[in-house]
Amino acid sequence: METIEFEHPVARDILTRLRDRGTGPDDFRKLSHRLGLMLAVEATRNLSTEPVSIETPMEATLGEICVNTPVLLPILRAGLGMLSPFQEILPESPVAFVALRRDENSGEAKWLYDSAQNLRGRDIIILDPMLATGGTAASVLGFLQEKGVNRIILVCIVAAPEGIFRLRQFGQLTVITAAVDRELDENWFILPGLGDFGDRLFRSSNNNQ
Ligand code: URA
Repeated sequence: METIEFEHPVARDILTRLRDRGTGPDDFRKLSHRLGLMLAVEATRNLSTEPVSIETPMEATLGEICVNTPVLLPILRAGLGMLSPFQEILPESPVAFVALRRDENSGEAKWLYDSAQNLRGRDIIILDPMLATGGTAASVLGFLQEKGVNRIILVCIVAAPEGIFRLRQFGQLTVITAAVDRELDENWFILPGLGDFGDRLFRSSNNNQ
């Protein structure tokens, strides 16, 4: 397993605004989208291409097109906040969905739903903005391994060291995150973090802002 902490001044600026409790839902969604675009560029850095012949208005030339586009797999619900920027960068990518809920007592993930079929041999990009305990991600990774997928990239906005540690045994995994934060609190929230990503995105009533 490899962890890449995405380093860019504009990404740090966006993340600071996302963290700020004064940032309302409309700005939060726009900022998530903008940072998602930057992370999508990073996550697609090693995509395979194949040569194509084209004609510019001036002459014939060789170009490249992407092949084997990865399947996008947002984890509901917060992962939906990253789907649209990834679809902008990878318009041909199929999208599959999984939904899990964290048990408030144990912190472990309970499986609710999946629409993921025909993933054998595919590269997968999992979208999950907050990697906290890693319980949800570990569950999804186990599920994907059983499906016989190829390479997996997990893209987060903020990751906790505990979550990264939990995923260390997944050899085919690369984690890309805009920040590795300090630690989890007693309720498994990331510190300093940005609060509940899904609540801030969808303006849920139980947000902790
Ligand atoms: N999920 C969130 O949305 N925020 C956290 O801090 C941890 C998990």
